[in-house]
Amino acid sequence: SVPLLANENPYGPSEAARRAIAAAIPTANRYSGDGAGGTEELKRLIADREGLTPECVVLGAGSSEVLFMAALAFGTGEIVTADPTFGLLRLYAERAGTTVHRVPLDAKMAHDLDAMRARVTAKTSLVYVCNPNNPTGTLLPGATVRAFCEEISPQATVLVDEAYFEYVDPKLDASAVELVRKGANVVLARTFSKIYGLAGLRVGYALARPDLAARLSDRRVGNIGKLGYEAALASIRDRDFVTTSRSRNAAARAFTVDALAKLGIRCPESHGNFVYANVGARNRQVPVALAERGLLLTWNGRPLGGDWMRVTIGTDEEMRRFAAALREVVA
Ligand code: PLP
Repeated sequence: SVPLLANENPYGPSEAARRAIAAAIPTANRYSGDGAGGTEELKRLIADREGLTPECVVLGAGSSEVLFMAALAFGTGEIVTADPTFGLLRLYAERAGTTVHRVPLDAKMAHDLDAMRARVTAKTSLVYVCNPNNPTGTLLPGATVRAFCEEISPQATVLVDEAYFEYVDPKLDASAVELVRKGANVVLARTFSKIYGLAGLRVGYALARPDLAARLSDRRVGNIGKLGYEAALASIRDRDFVTTSRSRNAAARAFTVDALAKLGIRCPESHGNFVYANVGARNRQVPVALAERGLLLTWNGRPLGGDWMRVTIGTDEEMRRFAAALREVVA
C-alpha cells in the first residue's frame, strides 16, 4: 500500500546518499563519523551553511531526540505550545512532569502568536513554535516569527521546529536561524528525515548558541549511527536533490489541493509536504475506506484530527491514485 501518513519524502534517499550508505556498510562496526566516533565534519558542514560555528550544532537521533533534549533541558518551568501542533515535545515534557499550556490555532489554522504571548508568565521556561506547522502546513512569515523570538526570548527559550523548512520557498526567508546567529535564547530543530529522505536512518540536529547547545547535548543519548552519519554528509552536499524534491512536492501538493477543492474540501495553505483537509463528519470513515483502497493515511484507521484529515504528499502518481480513491469514497 501507499504510505501517505508520516510526511516522508517519497523520492528519498538521494542517489548520493544511497551510494554513501552502501560504501559505509563495511565500517558499520565503528561508531559514527571518523573511526573515533567523531561527528565534526557533519557539524562543520551544517554550521558553515547556516553561518554558525560547529559548537552551535547538536546532532540527535532524528529531531525527535532534539525535542526530547529540549523538553528535559528547557522544560524546567512551564511550556507553551500551539494546538494542534506536532505533539512529541508536549508528550516528552508531560511525561517528565512539566505543565504544558496548549493555545488553539487561529481561524486560518496558523499559530496565534498573540494568544501564545498572552500565556507566557514568569513560570514559562519554553515556548514551542512549529514552522511550518504540522499537521496544518501553515507558515508564519519569517519576520513575524523572528519578532516573536526577539520579544519572548529574554523571558523564555523559544524552540522553533523547522522540520519542514526546506520545503518552504526560499524566497519567503522563513527561518529563525538569524536569531541563533545573534545569540538569542532560541533553539532550532531541523531534520534529515523530511526533504532529505532519511527518516529511517534517524538524523536530526539542533542549532543554538554554544551554551544552549551544551545544555541540550548534556541530555543526549549517544552518537548517531554510522550509516545515517554518512548519508547525512552526502545529502547536505547534494543541493540538487533538495531543490528537485521541493519543486516536485509543490507540484503534487497543488494537484492535491485542487483535487480536494473539486470535492468541495478546503485546506489551509500548506508550505509542507502534507495538507490538512476538512472532510467533516465523513472523516470517521474516510481513513478506513482509503486503506481498503491501498492508501494509508493514519496508523490505525482512526481519524487524526476530528473532522480533519492530514495527507502526506507522495509522488504525482500516488496523488492521482489518492484523488481517484477519495472521489469514490466521498461520493
Ligand atoms: N518535528 C516535526 C514538526 C515533525 O513533523 C516530525 C516528524 O514527523 C519531527 C519533528 C520528528 O521527526 P524526526 O525525528 O524524524 O526528525
